[in-house]
Amino acid sequence: MNFGVLLSLAVIVTLIFSITAFLYVQGQPKEEIRRMEPVMDVKNLKDMRIELERVRKVMWIGPHADDEVYVAGLLHYASLKGKDCIIVAYRAGGERRKLNLMSAELLGCNYTYLSSYPGRSVKEKIRSLLTSESPDLILTFHPETGFRMSEAHAKVGELVTGVISSGNYSIKLFYILNKDPTLEKLLGGADRSKQTHYLDLNLIVGNESLFEVKIADICVYSKAIPAAKAICEDAGGMQDRMLRYEFYEEYTPSDS
Ligand SMILES: [Zn+2]
Repeated sequence: MNFGVLLSLAVIVTLIFSITAFLYVQGQPKEEIRRMEPVMDVKNLKDMRIELERVRKVMWIGPHADDEVYVAGLLHYASLKGKDCIIVAYRAGGERRKLNLMSAELLGCNYTYLSSYPGRSVKEKIRSLLTSESPDLILTFHPETGFRMSEAHAKVGELVTGVISSGNYSIKLFYILNKDPTLEKLLGGADRSKQTHYLDLNLIVGNESLFEVKIADICVYSKAIPAAKAICEDAGGMQDRMLRYEFYEEYTPSDS
């Protein structure tokens, strides 16, 4: 075999290798951040995506059967990463349950109701829930400010924190914080506590950003809830002014 033939073979092999590598890279799922305004400085905060890495089951606990919209970005991201994802509300009637199913399907989660778990008090029901579902990461409301100064939200945050801090659980606990001036104006309140973590909703997973999925989830409830309708219909260009982040505060026992 002369040198010319060898060289040609080498060129062909290199080409085949390059094309294969190119096709492999093209075939990989894309996870990129497509930056849109408004942007915030998050460099001193931790990325929730890293917290999720070793987690198997993520659970949201809120009192109302629509509160999961506040953490829709994280729930959807978790389910796309193959995590079990469970949404817990206290209870819901027939029509609302249909919307809950639509929301759960959109986010890739299951929906369940605390009222159906055994226990004489809400605290006992939360314990039953944790025993039966064994989540390793829980998201709930801040026990003082409850996202929009909602007493019902804050109460659930307080009860969940009480159960976890007094029990022998290895569960990470995070509070969703409202730091968005647009949502504060719309909902009539925000959280004062300081965020430790963020999730960037500009993240593109598949063909959509997490922000687009969150808006779609809010739209599920737009017929039932005026604030959801306002956001879904982009009243006054609200969507452009909303922060494209979810902010979380990690609960550490020394806080209490
Ligand atoms: Zn609520």
